[in-house]
Amino acid sequence: MKQKKAYKYRFSPSPAQKRILAQTFGCCRYVYNWALRQRTDAYYHHGERLYYEGTAGRLVLLKKQEETMWLNAVSSVPLQQALRHLDQAFRNFFEGRAEYPTFKKKRHQQAATYASNAFTWDGQGCKALTLAKMDAPLPMVWHRPLPDGCKPSSVTVTKDEAERYFVSILAEEEIKPLEVTPQMVGLDLGLKSMVITSDGQTYGNPKFFAKEAKKLAKAQRRHAKKKKGSKNRAKARLKVARIHKKMADRRRDYQHQLSTRIIRENQVVCIESLQVKNMVKNHCLAKAISDVGWSELVRQLEYKAAWYGRSIVKMDKWYPSSKRCFDCGHMLDSLPLDVRSWACPACGVVHDRDLNAAKNILAAGLAVAAYGEAVRPGRAKAQPGKPQRSRKASQ
Ligand SMILES: [Zn+2]
Repeated sequence: MKQKKAYKYRFSPSPAQKRILAQTFGCCRYVYNWALRQRTDAYYHHGERLYYEGTAGRLVLLKKQEETMWLNAVSSVPLQQALRHLDQAFRNFFEGRAEYPTFKKKRHQQAATYASNAFTWDGQGCKALTLAKMDAPLPMVWHRPLPDGCKPSSVTVTKDEAERYFVSILAEEEIKPLEVTPQMVGLDLGLKSMVITSDGQTYGNPKFFAKEAKKLAKAQRRHAKKKKGSKNRAKARLKVARIHKKMADRRRDYQHQLSTRIIRENQVVCIESLQVKNMVKNHCLAKAISDVGWSELVRQLEYKAAWYGRSIVKMDKWYPSSKRCFDCGHMLDSLPLDVRSWACPACGVVHDRDLNAAKNILAAGLAVAAYGEAVRPGRAKAQPGKPQRSRKASQ
């Protein structure tokens, strides 16, 4: 099966490339914000929906106006892509996956996407990637090779808050499914550790970042003391951004290692679909949950399962995985969050809270999978208790 995979590389642009990129980022941001206003105004003032095609048509006119002639100085492709990104942001909003799109800011990460007609790629010899309006290829650090014969379909250049430049190359490639294994596992989100598995392993401690968090707090205090608008304040801000980025990088690395390992070792992975959004409203849990990055881990598990022919069985949050005794099925009336272990009043078995939950998740997930909903690779949404039969089974 062919899958799209992104490869990200760092690069240090030449002064000339830096100038072109700064200009392109600025134009993309301008066009995105302009189109966001157009779409919002169209709806609120005229009650009409403006879509990608509508904004693209208006962009052509915008580029002919004298005040915005400067938009013609950069490649037109990233500007169109900015409109597409906005379109996707609206789709995410309308389909309930995201908040209403907001304006892009100069201080935040900058990005420009080049479709295949706006870059040249020499995949044979020296692997040179040259963007539209540039004379020389990007000086990239090839820390890992692109697969042989792969053809990039689009390229996104970003400059993050810590002023680092990256290029992300999207390429289609053949990914071989992993060999089938009988292993299955249930995962629970722990509070003491990021993940606990039904076979008793724990991964990731939220305190992983405690040391860097302290450094960050110190840098933030320094930043706050500097005079607004001063050079020193800008320097202090950059320092804060660098620590933030370093923490984010470490977290993502860890999540990738973990998700790859879980997918490699198990054929079926049962998880609870945690409504992180709702849980973040709970003050005492907010930090712990956003820190451990459960939703990002689940996202990685889902796409890696699709790549490698594994199954993810996702269960709704309401399933009482913590309160149910795995050994006898007895259900507790309540189980406060601070109770780490408990003895079952019916059968007397003493449970570790998180491990018991992970075992229940695996059992419930397998019960659901047995009905045929989730045996195929990829995603499956399931509700334990009232499993939905697959179309085949009901015929
Ligand atoms: Zn029991």
